[in-house]
Amino acid sequence: MKDLKIGLTGHPVSSGSKESVTGKSFDVIIIGGGPAGLTSAIYATRENLSTLLLEKISCGGLPATTDIIENYPGFPEGIKGMELVQKFKEQAKRFGVNITEYKEVKQVSSEGNSLLVETSDNTYHTPAVIVGSGSIPKKLNIPGEKEFMGKGVSYCAICDGPLFKDMDIAVIGCGNSGLQEGEFLLNHVKNITFIEYLPYMTGARILQEKLQKNEKAEFLLNHALTGVNGGDFVESVTVKDRNSGEEKEIAVSGVFIYAGFLPNTGFLESSVKLDDAGYIITDEDMKTSVPGIFGAGDVRSKNIRQIDTACADGTIAAISARNYINELKS
Ligand SMILES: Cc1cc2nc3c(=O)[nH]c(=O)nc-3n(C[C@H](O)[C@H](O)[C@H](O)COP(=O)(O)OP(=O)(O)OC[C@H]3O[C@@H](n4cnc5c(N)ncnc54)[C@H](O)[C@@H]3O)c2cc1C
Repeated sequence: MKDLKIGLTGHPVSSGSKESVTGKSFDVIIIGGGPAGLTSAIYATRENLSTLLLEKISCGGLPATTDIIENYPGFPEGIKGMELVQKFKEQAKRFGVNITEYKEVKQVSSEGNSLLVETSDNTYHTPAVIVGSGSIPKKLNIPGEKEFMGKGVSYCAICDGPLFKDMDIAVIGCGNSGLQEGEFLLNHVKNITFIEYLPYMTGARILQEKLQKNEKAEFLLNHALTGVNGGDFVESVTVKDRNSGEEKEIAVSGVFIYAGFLPNTGFLESSVKLDDAGYIITDEDMKTSVPGIFGAGDVRSKNIRQIDTACADGTIAAISARNYINELKS
């Protein structure tokens, strides 16, 4: 059995911020530096809880890979995704959160009232964990997808879009992500064939109408992507008409895939209840099935996944964590 030190450190929160942390005991540990995690950090630190945020790469989450955010309130002209999340991070740092980047959480487990958060080189002890680890793009697992990753296959328009200047590309998926990123890609490329598995698009109507008017955009609904082909780089995709079963090849130099997401929950102990797709089940206070573990943002089982809903979850999770810690102390 591991030697446990219970958190509830209650030590004063510094006004600055640290990029690395030597102490191992915190009131709250937040996993993930996207909108949910950073908002939780703002609220937790303002409650004077000593707070550590662990982020697998650099803070920002999915918005850091998105060009322009048009629907986050407060920015009538829209704001670059990266700029928005930088502001979240600066705000959290102002209140004294300890942020450690490039530190992936490998496991969360519990013993009594104490939780253990393990990275590759540290084990942290805490009474409360907020999981804001979001999700990653789903792979289609079709021939050529893996082979041409980084050679024409991409999941990030803002990262790779400019590489396809004046070329023909395909965007897979006509949900909000596919349409929004397609709109950005149209600034760079010659032509986009949007390929959607369903007979209809699921993205916002305003985006559908805007893109349908764009002469550089074509739509193939009710078609499945069945292969990515080429030599050193992508040269074409194969699609199958789901009505007729007919297959055809379309010449493209790039394929951007937006076909749904998978939750980042592999590091959670088995007692945290997940739904059938692996998302964390919480109540409306963001409590999970394990006392002291809270879920927030896209990693939660819910219908609407947006930046403002992730922020709302993060707020609630932090306040619920504070209440939980107060109950433990009393
Ligand atoms: C292409 C695209 C465009 C979008 N456009 C919009 C938009 O215009 N408006 C809008 O409101 N929403 C938009 N969204 C949705 C929005 O980005 C998400 O709803 C939001 O980012 C969710 O925030 P989150 O903090 O829950 O998760 P994320 O943003 O996914 O952040 C999770 C963070 O956790 C980290 N992490 C994961 N596992 C671990 C681990 N084991 N240890 C440590 N850290 C870990 C990740 O690295 C990541 O930084 C878009 C999404 C996509 C994909």
